[in-house]
Amino acid sequence: MAKVVVLGSGFAGHTAVSFLRKNLGKEHEVVMVTPNSKWQYIPSNVWIGIGKMTPADTTFPLAPVYRKKGIVYKQAKVISFHPEGDNESDRPYVLVEYVSGDKQGQQEKVDYDYLINATGPKLDFDATEGLYPGKNKTVSICSFDHAEHAWKELKKVIDLMKQGKRQRILIGTGHAGATCQGAAFEYILNVEKLLRDEGVRDMADIQWISNEYELGDFGMDGMYFKVGFSAITGNELAEKLFHARGIKFTVQAGVYKVEDGKAYYENLDGEYKEIEYDFAMLIPKFSGHGFKAYDKEGNDITEKLFKAFMVVDADYTPKPYEEWTVQDWPEKLQNPSYPNIFAAGIAFHPPHTISQPRKSKNGTVITPAPPRTGMPSAIMGKTVADNIVHMIKTGTDEVKHLASMGNMGVACVASAGYGTFTGSAIVMLLDPAIPDYKKYPKYGRRLKMASMGVHGHWMKKILHHMFIYKAKMKPFWWIIPE
Ligand SMILES: Cc1cc2nc3c(=O)[nH]c(=O)nc-3n(C[C@H](O)[C@H](O)[C@H](O)COP(=O)(O)OP(=O)(O)OC[C@H]3O[C@@H](n4cnc5c(N)ncnc54)[C@H](O)[C@@H]3O)c2cc1C
Repeated sequence: MAKVVVLGSGFAGHTAVSFLRKNLGKEHEVVMVTPNSKWQYIPSNVWIGIGKMTPADTTFPLAPVYRKKGIVYKQAKVISFHPEGDNESDRPYVLVEYVSGDKQGQQEKVDYDYLINATGPKLDFDATEGLYPGKNKTVSICSFDHAEHAWKELKKVIDLMKQGKRQRILIGTGHAGATCQGAAFEYILNVEKLLRDEGVRDMADIQWISNEYELGDFGMDGMYFKVGFSAITGNELAEKLFHARGIKFTVQAGVYKVEDGKAYYENLDGEYKEIEYDFAMLIPKFSGHGFKAYDKEGNDITEKLFKAFMVVDADYTPKPYEEWTVQDWPEKLQNPSYPNIFAAGIAFHPPHTISQPRKSKNGTVITPAPPRTGMPSAIMGKTVADNIVHMIKTGTDEVKHLASMGNMGVACVASAGYGTFTGSAIVMLLDPAIPDYKKYPKYGRRLKMASMGVHGHWMKKILHHMFIYKAKMKPFWWIIPE
């Protein structure tokens, strides 16, 4: 009998635990450790943030699903890693602390044969002075409760516009090293469409701010799409959309401080500037959780397991942008020191950014961190689970399945406005996720079509329902691709 412990119930961890339970016999134990009571479909937070969905539409309780499927569920958070056990036992374990129920506040050693770390990012609001949802007129849409709060605040601003008071709206990234530009991009387009629908668009100044070198970079080192017989860049596409909607933009900006209605930023020219606003949604820096690891004797071995995120089979040798290759990216997602530990989704430490790193004249790195969106996170979760199943069933340590972002295509459906007949979304495919300039010297990726229209909105709505169905592990859930 083997025991597999999964940490985190997001896209990566929940997918991993689902496939482990499906493909391992009942004699093997599958354990989920997560502080969450609910599963959440994060992409629809954009729509909660404009009042078109509620948290109830995008979440469901985890306990009944895990109970039904025979997954041991501990509503707890991991605190430290002990991959060699301790002076009491050789069994590797993680120390966890319960966050709810009768055991709230209690700590427990959860031992394992295999461990998957899928703890995602820490939403590091502290990395930007004054940036915290609900403070200084800023909000976030990074979780369903943040998004619900964002809608309450946006509604107040819309009411003021209806009373004839002009409002300034600022949306984008709130740190020089933030990621997730795509979510902020969707939100600004959705807010703009909502203001048109509410008849108050002429009462708002809408402004984008981000750490991208140019608009449409999205932390992916830019994008190209096939349109007819030619190619259009992500930059051209994004600029066209903003121009058509009267959205102003500031890029190459690292926000470092927020005060009541004022964001301070540094740009690549080394200038320090400020922007005033009445409502701001700024994505925080995504940091590692700061976990500690200890060996059998209790010595600190954190650097074997973690940089900011978990160390895996990536090439972490520092090298200039010109020398980066897709081979730098991990494909086994396995820790080199402890091969029974894997990391999936945002939890693995990337070898470097995807976009070319740039420093301001003052030496501040102003570059998006590499996004690892839902689809690759779930693919990584499934692949790691498949490998563990293979190892258990064959009794070998063979890592059979690989999941490098350098070989993986990612589909993105970016909402540009909500509405059954008036909504739209941009449908795009990036293949591979990490540009491979050796294989595809011109564009770094295979040139794929992008399209935009109401069909994209319907697709995004269908994806919402399909993924919630899949996450609930309803009949034949595994047929739905990641
Ligand atoms: C507003 C928004 C919109 C987005 N839209 C899209 C989209 O349209 N398409 C797309 O592909 N991607 C989208 N993304 C990105 C996508 O949500 C992420 O890529 C994805 O959530 C990453 O999955 P993950 O499992 O690695 O991390 P997460 O989903 O963050 O999951 C991490 C899990 O670990 C848990 N955890 C944290 N700390 C601990 C601990 N100490 N112990 C145990 N568990 C812990 C968390 O509670 C959580 O359950 C969006 C993101 C945002 C914020």
